[in-house]
Amino acid sequence: MSMRSGTDYLKSLNDGRRVFLDGETIADVTSHKSLREAARSFARLYDIAAAPDMRERMTFTSPTTGEPVLRAYQIPRSHADLTARRQFSETWAEATFGLMGRTLDHVAGFLCGFAAVPNLFKTAGANFSDAVTSFYQNARDQHLYVSYAIVPPQIDRSKPAHKQSDPTLYAGVVKETDGGIVIAGAQQLATGAIYSDYIHLSCIHPLQPGDENYANSLVVPVCANGVKLYPRRSYAAMASNSFDYPLSSRFDETDSYVIFDNVFVPWEHVFVYRNLELCRDQWWKTPSHLYGNHQAQVRYVTKLRFMIGLAKRINEMTGNDANPAVATVMGELAALVSIYDNMLLAHETTAPIDENGVLWPSRITLYSAMAMQSEFNGRMLEIIRELSGSAMITLPSSVRDFDNPEAARDIERYMRSAATGAKVRMALLRHAWDFIGTEFGSRHQQYEKFYGGASFLIKQNVNRFFDYQRATALVDKALALPPVDGNP
Ligand SMILES: Cc1cc2nc3c(=O)[nH]c(=O)nc-3n(C[C@H](O)[C@H](O)[C@H](O)COP(=O)(O)OP(=O)(O)OC[C@H]3O[C@@H](n4cnc5c(N)ncnc54)[C@H](O)[C@@H]3O)c2cc1C
Repeated sequence: MSMRSGTDYLKSLNDGRRVFLDGETIADVTSHKSLREAARSFARLYDIAAAPDMRERMTFTSPTTGEPVLRAYQIPRSHADLTARRQFSETWAEATFGLMGRTLDHVAGFLCGFAAVPNLFKTAGANFSDAVTSFYQNARDQHLYVSYAIVPPQIDRSKPAHKQSDPTLYAGVVKETDGGIVIAGAQQLATGAIYSDYIHLSCIHPLQPGDENYANSLVVPVCANGVKLYPRRSYAAMASNSFDYPLSSRFDETDSYVIFDNVFVPWEHVFVYRNLELCRDQWWKTPSHLYGNHQAQVRYVTKLRFMIGLAKRINEMTGNDANPAVATVMGELAALVSIYDNMLLAHETTAPIDENGVLWPSRITLYSAMAMQSEFNGRMLEIIRELSGSAMITLPSSVRDFDNPEAARDIERYMRSAATGAKVRMALLRHAWDFIGTEFGSRHQQYEKFYGGASFLIKQNVNRFFDYQRATALVDKALALPPVDGNP
């Protein structure tokens, strides 16, 4: 199969999927005014990857077909392979300024991780490991975009899945047939789902005995009968034009609640079935969570680079760039960005290779970076708000004010900066506000806090994987030091 172009991708999305938005059922997400620009942004990523001069950077050869396929689907077996995955994700993240979190390479990383350890799934039967391997190969060879919903709905967190007031609130199995299973219930929060080909449904939250019906891992086509997508409100819809809302208008990837209304799933799409242990182990005894979140960090570092670039330009415009106090604050910002940048490189250089030749990005660096992201991200945005003063607010109401000659003259005269004219200044500050202050910007803060789960859970992961033995050995060594000069 040849590379998938943006046009092929956009055409394939008009497949009868059911998306509920603003009281409408949307038949075609690629033409609806609130949704089409993000679809085009995803499509551009396919075009970038398919460009002949990007072949080496963006593709590798499928061992099944001999054709070029996206590096997002390459299972890393060496440090160089992981670097190649990073460069792939960096290219896409730079094209979207790190503002689209769930591009195809995120869940592709999870699928690579499952396929790297098929024997884990075999413990429940060869049909499950075959399903994992063959879906991975199809997704890779057909350049599929898979999104995921792996967190139960926030209906009543005080009770386990099977004790919710209705057993079909959380997505779970309601029927088994010779050909497959039937799923009913809801799961959150599938970012990008309305633009994807398949949804991976599983559960990363801890489940307990009695919750077996919810302990599954499977994929369904987004257009499957009974799949209903409820995206949160569209920020692109609120963007009156792309000058005043340069980011909302282009990169609103959407986040959807997914409802499975008795969806039939054939066995060949089921990786884990009513199995508490495997449902848990798929995340931690395979490199799936590490590959998927390696992409998340590549994307985040790119976004931070964009963010600090905005801060630098704001300082240049306000004439504060050389101010020693501003230099100190910028130093703090640059230190935080550099920590994330270098933690990402550390995932790669300290990544071990297992006995099957599969490389696992370092857990402790990944989870440490993610654990602190929820706090550092807020701190970094606070610095930018501080540095910009009123700049993002003291602007004309919209770019349309330039259409009025009298207003345009005033704006050009009074709203310029020493460094640039008023329109360039306004364009920059609109980017900064859309990054931080609009509803799009605010959702991004929530995303950085929660895309990898609540931070208390990530901190528990760091605690689980930290090398306390080496640390406590040092303490034991200190306690065993002989007395100085024979004194106790
Ligand atoms: C914008 C966005 C996009 C997302 N995209 C996806 C996606 O594509 N796919 C997907 O599957 N998920 C996605 N998620 C993540 C996911 O759906 C959840 O939001 C995330 O896992 C956190 O779970 P929750 O929201 O149910 O919070 P809860 O688990 O209900 O926790 C809420 C808060 O309660 C407190 N709390 C609860 N329990 C404890 C405890 N034991 N100890 C201490 N404090 C506690 C904490 O303050 C915690 O932050 C996304 C989330 C956001 C915000």
